[in-house]
Amino acid sequence: MKLSSKAIIASSLTLLSINILWSSQAFAATYVHVGKLITGADTKVHENKTLVIDANKILDIQDGLQKGSESDSFIDLSAYTLLPGLMDMHVHLSSQNEGSASYLKRFTQNEADFAIQAVNYAEKTLMSGFTTVRNLGDSYNETVALRNAINKGIVSGPRIYTSAKSIATTGGHADPTNGMQKALMGSPTPRDGVINGVAEARQAVRQRYKDGADLIKITATGGVLSVAKSGQNPQFMTDELEAIVQTAHDYGMTVAVHAHGKEGMKRAILAGVDSIEHGTYMDKEIIKLMRKHDVYYVPTILAGNFVAEKAKIDGFFPAIVRPKAAAIGPLIQKTFAKAHENGVLIAFGTDSGVSAHGDNGKEFSLMVEAGMSEMDAILSATINAAKLLKIQDILGTLEAGKLADMVAVKGNPIDDITLLQNIDFVMKDGKVYKQP
Ligand SMILES: [Zn+2]
Repeated sequence: MKLSSKAIIASSLTLLSINILWSSQAFAATYVHVGKLITGADTKVHENKTLVIDANKILDIQDGLQKGSESDSFIDLSAYTLLPGLMDMHVHLSSQNEGSASYLKRFTQNEADFAIQAVNYAEKTLMSGFTTVRNLGDSYNETVALRNAINKGIVSGPRIYTSAKSIATTGGHADPTNGMQKALMGSPTPRDGVINGVAEARQAVRQRYKDGADLIKITATGGVLSVAKSGQNPQFMTDELEAIVQTAHDYGMTVAVHAHGKEGMKRAILAGVDSIEHGTYMDKEIIKLMRKHDVYYVPTILAGNFVAEKAKIDGFFPAIVRPKAAAIGPLIQKTFAKAHENGVLIAFGTDSGVSAHGDNGKEFSLMVEAGMSEMDAILSATINAAKLLKIQDILGTLEAGKLADMVAVKGNPIDDITLLQNIDFVMKDGKVYKQP
């Protein structure tokens, strides 16, 4: 078909007018003026800047006070410090510890109960400034459903990267039938996150991929809160760990490892895992291995301190849990200090769900108390966490082109780190969830 020149001009004009219409809509931007700015891309506190947000992205960062045109919206945060949305690399959004009473919930709660609780805790987490989390363990894949609902805008919450149900070995930390009478114990399978041997290890990883998990969580040693004697024995053989890591990496998933004891940590690091959670009995040899293999440490000091405090209360925990909580809990902050001093990569994580959801910001104060600078603590919850999640191209810093996840506090968190426990402004994906 041959078009006349008139027709070509006419159709070009139509295209042009559509373009003008489109671009004038696209440029209804949001201008956020801030007194102080921590971008996470360097260690400075910048002053008097304006971020231009277009839809869900940062379009530009400009000097001074800018308001754009009349069709643009303006947010005045001149008395505030703006920083990238905070990231917690270890939460459990569908539960919250209530001591001994928590152990009954396996028998009294349905899947829907866990799911609905999770909606509430997710909103609390977002409102406390955490715009991205790793959920490391749930019961019924309810955090997969939660992640999907948040991504669709059905409910409010952080961006979730979930491991779904953790993987354990029989009787290990995260075997869901520990402590039950034999008739109820049954024999949980890779589907339920319990494996023995290489084939089942692979099956459990593939099942999680099929279930919609983003990453894999395993419990490489005993844990504090499980109904079992040891909080630190190794619970996977080397061949099982290698099978898990190789399969997970094949599927583009990272492996996060709960570990308190040294031997379990050592086997996991040598098998090629991506992060060690808690890491309580980490010594010089483990620190060296973590550095050599670029393994991230996610400390969860808050959880350690929480269980240590509760272990002092008679009857708060079951008798088998109490001595583990009293022994392991208080050590984590010291381990963190040692790891930080020796240059281990650190990504912020709280294990919230052990302590209350929404208290995540308390971890910053515990990190600073243990010798980390305020700026490094902030970077551990922004760019370092983004690197652990392998999303540093889109999140983790405030720079042109990145997604608009940001939070603000009144005053300067570098002068007072406790400010991060009271976040005044939350934007996620360009949408404001909380304003002063
Ligand atoms: Zn945990």
